[in-house]
Order: sequence, then C-alpha cells, then structure tokens
Amino acid sequence: MGNGEPENNSAAPPVSGSGKLYLIGAGPGDPELLALKAVRLLGQADVVLYDRLVGPEILQYARTGAELIYVGKHEGEQETKQNYIFDLIRRHAAAGRTVARLKGGDSLVFGRGAEEWALALGLGIEVELVPGLTSAISVPGLAGIPLTYRQVSQSFAIVTGHCHTGRSQQWAKYAGVDTLVILMGVKNSGFIARSLIAAGRPADQPVAFIERGSTPYETVVESDLGSVAAGKAKVSNPAVFVIGEVVRLRRTLTEAPASIEVPKPPAPAAES
Ligand code: SAH
Repeated sequence: MGNGEPENNSAAPPVSGSGKLYLIGAGPGDPELLALKAVRLLGQADVVLYDRLVGPEILQYARTGAELIYVGKHEGEQETKQNYIFDLIRRHAAAGRTVARLKGGDSLVFGRGAEEWALALGLGIEVELVPGLTSAISVPGLAGIPLTYRQVSQSFAIVTGHCHTGRSQQWAKYAGVDTLVILMGVKNSGFIARSLIAAGRPADQPVAFIERGSTPYETVVESDLGSVAAGKAKVSNPAVFVIGEVVRLRRTLTEAPASIEVPKPPAPAAES
C-alpha cells in the first residue's frame, strides 16, 4: 500500500458475504501468553493469516481443517505483501468465511492492524480486536527490565528503529524520555545510539537487546550506548532494544539474592 490509504486497494469487487475478521495479537512468542479470547476465536476461524513472528505452537489452536496461510513479510516486499493480505481478507470474508489475522505482539503496535481493520470496515466486514501482549513491554519485563521504576524511570516511549523515509527520524525528540524501547532497531542501532548521544544522552547509559524474547532461544545482550554507537554490539533479529537506567535493575531481578546489591528504598512519596 503505497500511500497508506486502504481504500486504494479496493479495486476488487466489494464483499457481499457475512465473513468476519478477528484481529488477534499473538503476544511475544510463548503460547501461554496468549489471551483466552485469542485461543477461543482461533478455534473458530476458517482461515488463519499469520505473520513471521507467530510461533508454530500458537497455530495449534486453529481448528482442524482451518486453512493456515503464511503472510510474513521480508525486507523489500512489505507493500506487495500487504496488498496480498488485504486481498486475502477481502476474498475470504466475501465468501462468508471467518478470518483470523494473527500478528506478533499487539496488532496495533507497528503491526498495520489498524489498516486492516479500516479496510474490513470499509468493506462491511465485522471486525473483532483481541489485543496481544506487545513485545515492547513484555519482552523487557520477562528479561527483568521494568520500563518504569520509582525514581529511576517515570516515562517510556516505544519507537520504531526502521523508518521508511531513510534515517531522518528525529531522535533528538526522544532524548529526554527516561526509557526508550526500540522495535525493529537492530540494523540501525549504531545510528540511533550516535544520534541519542549527540542529543545529550550519556554514552555510559546502559542498554540491552533482548533477542527472541519469551522463547526458549531468548538471549540478552547488555551494553552501553557508547559501545552500540561504536558498532560493538553483536545482535540478531528479532530483538527489543532498551535504553535507560532501568536496564541496571535486571541484575536485581534475575540474580540470586546472595550476589545482588540491595536496591535503595524509594524516598517517601507525596502521592500513594
Ligand atoms: N506488533 C509487534 C511489533 C511488530 S514490529 C508487537 O507488538 O510486539 C517487529 C519487531 O518487534 C521486531 O523487529 C522486534 O523488535 C520486536 N519483537 C517482536 N517479537 C519479539 C520477540 N519475541 N523478541 C524480541 N523482539 C521482538
């Protein structure tokens, strides 16, 4: 979809069937992190359109006989693939089928779920959203990195590290946010780190990359902003890139009590 307008993909005849679209967030990977509602609706769908980051264990909740269609996108084919997905939704729903659109994490966090929702609504297809656990929050959490912590982080921002217009993103505007969570940021991590340092973020600020979070292959790479800026972090996709002092809490939350530093108790606060 070239210009972000789902209507432009509606060259095919409008649907007349009574199909439905379930927009289901599959969470970060561990099937036990699926919502009960996701499991129930997956069991009812006739067709399941699933993405690259959806684990095979999750597909087992599709009903026997359902058609499972892989629609994962690879670099350079985003737009063609997205048009293909729109077309599949349109055709199957037109034939009166129930379509489950299964996406990694939450469908509305860098998932183009809202575009598919709008397309379906425009075609008169009923839509039901099942929110998923976004990797942006759940993956750092599972690795022992809370995005907020009293006196350490009052704010976080979830930012894409991949920008369709090249590297023009204004990283300076995020420099003051306590914790930055960057999705799709592995490839551009050096550039991002250098931009944030140039915008005033300390080079010794801790960072972590959590690869394949919530799966048996989860790996955590801890580093600091300066090292990432110098291209020293060796990380593979998919990974959540977290920048901020909260990364230090990982030790407290994951190591055996004998070896940890006791965290400073927060000062009494005015509010509850
Ligand atoms: N809708 C998804 C995000 C899609 S963008 C969500 O809410 O999680 C894809 C990016 O998400 C990946 O490049 C990576 O940065 C991140 N991601 C998704 N699942 C992940 C996982 N299990 N472990 C690490 N990163 C993950």
